[in-house]
Formats: sequence, C-alpha cells, structure tokens
Amino acid sequence: MPEIFVDGVAIEAKDGQTVMEAARDAGIYIPGFCWHPQLSVAGNCRLCMVEVEGDTGGWMDIACNMPATRGMKVLTQSPKVKERRKTMLEMVLLNHPVDCGVCDKAGECMLQDYHYEHNGAASVATVAKHRTTKFHELSKRIVLDNERCVLCSRCVRFTKEVSKSHALGILDRGDHSLVRCDEKRSLDDDPYSDNVVDLCPVGALLSRRFLYKSRVWYLQPTPSVCPGCERGCTVDLWHRKAEWKFNALDPRQNVAIERVTPRENPAVNGPWICNKARDLPDLLERPRGGAPMLKGARVPLAEAAGAARRMIDAASSPVALISSWGSNEELAAARDALGPRFRCFVKADHVPQPGERVGDDFLIRPDKNPNGKRARELFGTAPVSLDGADLVLVWGEGFDFADVPRGAKSILLNAFLAPENGHADAYFPTTLQTERAGHYTNFAGVVSAFAPIRRAPAGSVDAEALFGMLAAVARVPA
Ligand code: SF4
Ligand code: SF4
Repeated sequence: MPEIFVDGVAIEAKDGQTVMEAARDAGIYIPGFCWHPQLSVAGNCRLCMVEVEGDTGGWMDIACNMPATRGMKVLTQSPKVKERRKTMLEMVLLNHPVDCGVCDKAGECMLQDYHYEHNGAASVATVAKHRTTKFHELSKRIVLDNERCVLCSRCVRFTKEVSKSHALGILDRGDHSLVRCDEKRSLDDDPYSDNVVDLCPVGALLSRRFLYKSRVWYLQPTPSVCPGCERGCTVDLWHRKAEWKFNALDPRQNVAIERVTPRENPAVNGPWICNKARDLPDLLERPRGGAPMLKGARVPLAEAAGAARRMIDAASSPVALISSWGSNEELAAARDALGPRFRCFVKADHVPQPGERVGDDFLIRPDKNPNGKRARELFGTAPVSLDGADLVLVWGEGFDFADVPRGAKSILLNAFLAPENGHADAYFPTTLQTERAGHYTNFAGVVSAFAPIRRAPAGSVDAEALFGMLAAVARVPA
C-alpha cells in the first residue's frame, strides 16, 4: 500500500489505485466531469489536473489516470492547479448555452457547481457561440441537448461497459462533435438507458418523464425499494417538499412521485437501476380501491372485518393466497394470523409483461415480485391448489376470481381498483409501500427498507393491521 502525500497529508493508497481514487477515498475531493468510479478512465475533461512536486520542478497531470506511487507529493489547491481549472471551465463554457433557467439539471449540475467554485468570472469569449441541436430525440425516453453537452463520454462508456447495448457514440470532431445513437442500434432497446440521465454531469441528457415537470430544489428523496423484480433495487422516490406544496393546483401533485433515481447500494444494485423503476409512478399510482366492501356494498372497516372473521370461523377448509408483494412485516403478521387454520400458497402478483426483458446477467430478474423469497420461506413453495376450499382469502393481485371454487366464500385484500373488488364477499383496500414503512428481502437474502412518502387514502388499511384483526379467530385450529 503506497503512501502518498496529497496537499501535505499522508494517505495510504491501495495497490493499483490512481491519485483520484486514493484522494477521494481519503475524503479529498478532486473535481472532474468525465471520471466516474464505475466507468473506465477517459481523461478527456482535464478538470482533475493536479500538480506533482518533483526534484526537477514537478509537473501537471490528470489525477484520474495517474497511478499513486510511493512517496508521491500531489497538490490539488496550488495556484497552478486553480489556474488550470479556471481555464478548462472557460473553455467548456465557450459554447455552452448557460440556459440554467430552463434546464432540468439546474440545482444538481456539476458545471454550475464547478463554475461557481473554480471560476465564477464572466465569459471572456468575443465570438458567437457555436449553435447545434437543442432537442435531439435519442430514444422515446431521452432527449439530448447537444449545446449543453461537455463531451465527457460518460453516457457512451455506460452503454459500452455497463448496459452493453453499445447504443451511443460520438460523431465528428472538435466543436462539431455530437453524441449520437449507433446507426444499427437503438437506445430504446436498452432497458437501463435512463441511467445516462443521472450520469450526465450537465443537463444534456434529459428524461422525457421529468422534462420541465419540477425544479429539483422543490423535491425531496425518500428511500424505497423497487418492487419491479426480486432484485429489489434500492431507489429514491422524489416528491414535493411540504414547504413547497401547491395550494391552488390539483392536491395530488403534492404527493405524486415526480421521479425515481437509484439509491446506491453495493450489496444489491450498485449505483444503477433499470427503466422499470423509473416508471414506478405508472405502477404505484394507479386508481385505488376506495372503501371496504361486502359483496360490492361499501361498509365501515370494523363491519367488513367482523364479517370476514365470521367467514373464517365458519370455514372448514380455508385457503390463503399470499402476496409476494407483502413486506416482511406483513408476511409475518399473515403467518401469525393464518397459521395452522389455513392452507397457504404463495402466488406471483405480477408476471413478465409482453416486450419486457425477463432477465439478464446484470440486474433484471425473472420473478417480477419484490418479496417472493421471504414469502416462500414462511409459506412454502407448493403450487397453488384450491381443491376442496370453502373459503379463499386472496391477498394482492395476480389471481383470477373465476378460479374460486363454486360455492366458496372469498375475502380479497387489494390496493387497486379492480372489478373483483366488488365480487368478493369481503373486500379490504390495502395500503401501498409508498404509504407505510417496511422491508423486502431480495432473492439473495438482502433486506432493504422502504419509507412512506404520503398518508394512505381514507378507508385503506395496512395488511399487517388487518391480519391482526383477523388473527383471533384464524388461529383457532379447525
Ligand atoms: S451527453 Fe452528457 S454524459 Fe454524454 S458526453 Fe455529453 S455531457 Fe457527457
Ligand atoms: S432490476 Fe428489478 S428491482 Fe431493479 S430496478 Fe429493475 S425491476 Fe426494479
């Protein structure tokens, strides 16, 4: 482990580390657009230039591509380094449109931050800026503003090295250079494509979902888990801060998921997610179930729970179909409540949809449910069988009510509006993971937490609480 000195501070570099890596590990920040810990070194932005002291006068070099060698003395804040950074930022800004006022990246843009930290001066350019494409459709999900692009090549390297779609490249040279799609490939075919929007250090790559929807300083992230497959990637759900809530517009906008980004987690997904997580608002913000019902008639929760308890009490062969979207806490409550009284089977609430990537050797897993592993640990792996059932308790989606045996009673727990809600003998609208705290266990056994971003709609009930209400009768063996 070579010892190097950065700004006079001795730090231990790991074998093979660059100066950039060793410095960042030690908490010393060296700026850079093109460097990213998960991508190969491009060395093209030159912003990480540092000064190396030497017996013969020393030299300037880029920290991202310079191996840390024993005894090396590096300066990251010397007058020469500061002058180089200022000069590089002047060059980057020569053709940049500086349209921060309408740019989605404003507030989290590295160019804004670096400019104010390392330059801050007015433009020295005396010629007109080079104009180029402002709204180039890279895919159905992503648009590119070439005037804002600093040609760091992060997006290109991502598609070559991480998602391996090889969809992006850089065309032409000098200030005619443009990020473009490969002629034979499409970014639409890359299920991880939206990561390039996060990776882009400036506002050149823009998500069409989020385009001009909000300013990022109005939003706050809440930790959550993507329920799109059994990988259980950790994510941030971005929603409006309470102090910035709208008073005059549709109040639903105050509680909507505005965007979804990865929450870095080396044990599960690293810094990446697939596009399905970006589309979670489509999945989690579908119309909700409303109020508890008995055969389609709205009733208070206590009345529905009482009726369900009597049905359980009266059943001689009750079956429960367990949701693989239930949290660890809900599954434990279900096991405690249903225990020996019910025959329990785990069902898949969701299955792969047409056109969806079923699985790959990166993140996407074939089981499209977040908690199947924990559900199977608690309730077994037997295939669903309704033979002889005189009561079927269905928890979650993915079950065809036509399969309920003739004459059997049914109890349904479902968060979303669905025709079968009105057909069940007792129906309970349940809460979503965006309305309560909990945990999922992914396919590899890693437990991840999610937190609420809003209150549950009136009338809905936590499955955990509901199982508690049903427990008293369900625990009595038949
Ligand atoms: S579009 Fe963004 S990520 Fe891609 S090269 Fe340009 S600045 Fe870098
Ligand atoms: S890989 Fe699975 S868990 Fe991860 S973001 Fe995609 S759908 Fe969600």
